[in-house]
Amino acid sequence: MTIMTTDSSGDVRLSGIGKTYGAFTAVHPLDLTVPQGSFFALLGASGCGKTTTLRMIAGLEEPSSGTVHLGDQDVTALPPYKRPVNTVFQSYALFPHLDIFENVAFGLRRRGIKSVKKQVEDMLELVQLGEQARKKPHQLSGGQQQRVAVARALINHPKVLLLDEPLGALDLKLRRQMQLELKRIQTEVGITFVHVTHDQEEAMTMADTVAVMNAGRVEQLGSPTDLYENPQTTFVANFLGTSNLIEAEVDTKNGDDIVLRAGGGKLVLPEARCSAPTTAGGKVLVGVRPEKISLTHADDAGEIPEGRNRITGRIAHSSFIGVSTQYVIDSQVCPEFEVYAQNIERDPRLTPGADVVLHWSPVHTFGLDAAQD
Ligand code: ATP
Repeated sequence: MTIMTTDSSGDVRLSGIGKTYGAFTAVHPLDLTVPQGSFFALLGASGCGKTTTLRMIAGLEEPSSGTVHLGDQDVTALPPYKRPVNTVFQSYALFPHLDIFENVAFGLRRRGIKSVKKQVEDMLELVQLGEQARKKPHQLSGGQQQRVAVARALINHPKVLLLDEPLGALDLKLRRQMQLELKRIQTEVGITFVHVTHDQEEAMTMADTVAVMNAGRVEQLGSPTDLYENPQTTFVANFLGTSNLIEAEVDTKNGDDIVLRAGGGKLVLPEARCSAPTTAGGKVLVGVRPEKISLTHADDAGEIPEGRNRITGRIAHSSFIGVSTQYVIDSQVCPEFEVYAQNIERDPRLTPGADVVLHWSPVHTFGLDAAQD
C-alpha cells in the first residue's frame, strides 16, 4: 500500500524555534527544514533538547520563540490534535482491553468513520501483523506492540510521523530488526518521519538526514555518510563512532592540500576536509577513523606506498573481535594518546610491544578546529 505524497505538505520547517524554562535554555533558537518524505533523525545525548524539539513540532510543548510550519501552514498556535502529525512514543500506550484490530481502528472510529475494515487490514498488512488482528496487546512481543503503535499512528494518514525513542524499550536484537522495519514502512508510505534517538547507530541505519544536537543546538546536519566522514566538530567526530584525533599545526599549503606538522613528522589533509582556519601556524586536530588505518610492522616500513599519512607507535594491546583485531597504539605524536586501528590481515608480529607504522590515505583525513569548545 502506498499513500501518494507528491506535494510538499509534509515539509517541516522550524524558524527560530527555541525553548526556555525560566533561565534555562533547553533549545536555542534553531532553523531546520525537513523535506517531505524524508526520514529525519534528531540525534544526541540525554538532555540535549531533541525531545523538546520534537514536542514543539507535535504541539505538545509551546515554543518560547519562533514558528513551526507544516507544508505551507503555520501551525505554531494549533493544538496537537489540529496538526497533521501523529506521535509514536517509547511506551506504546496501546489500549489493553482492545484487540489489535480495534487499537488500530480507534482513530478512524473516533472520527465517526463506519467502514474501517479495509483500511485497518491494509495497515496491519503494512506492519506485517495481519495474522495478529484478534490478539490483545499483552499477547504480542514488544516489537509487535510497537508496530501496532505505528499502525495506529498512521491510520489517519498524518503528513508527518514523529517518533520519540520508539525502540528504547526493546532489546538490542529486536531493536536492530525494528530499525529496518521502520525504514521499510517509511519508504512504503512515503511520509515524513522525524525520529528522536540517542543511539548513533540507529540514526545512521535509518535516517536520510541526521541533525546531531548538543546542549540545545544543532551541531551538524547531514547524511549519515557525510557526518561520519566529514565531521565538523570534535563533538560530532566523537559522538559518531571512534575518532583518532592528533594535535597538529599548519605548516604550508600544497595545491588543494594542507601540510601539517605533528610531532616530528608531516601529515597531509585536503583543504576541503578541514573546518579549522588554515593559516600557517594554526592549530588543527587531525582526525582519521580507525578502519581507514593500516598497520605495518616497523621492519616493513619501506614497503608502505608513497603519499600516505603515517605516524609511528607501539602496540599497547590488541583484542580479537572476530572479523578484525582492534589495536591500541601508544603513539609518539601525542604520548597520552591512543590510536585504535583495525586490521584484517593479522600479521603474527603485531603483538603488544611491537613497533609499528600507522598509515592511511590523506583523503580519509579530516581537520577540526582545535580552538573550539
Ligand atoms: P532525553 O533523551 O533524556 O529525553 P532530550 O535530549 O530529549 O533528553 P529534552 O527532554 O528535550 O532532552 O530536555 C532538554 C533539557 O530541558 C533537559 O536538560 C531537561 O532537563 C530540560 N527540561 C525538559 N523539560 C523541562 C521542564 N518541563 N522544565 C524544566 N526543564 C525541562
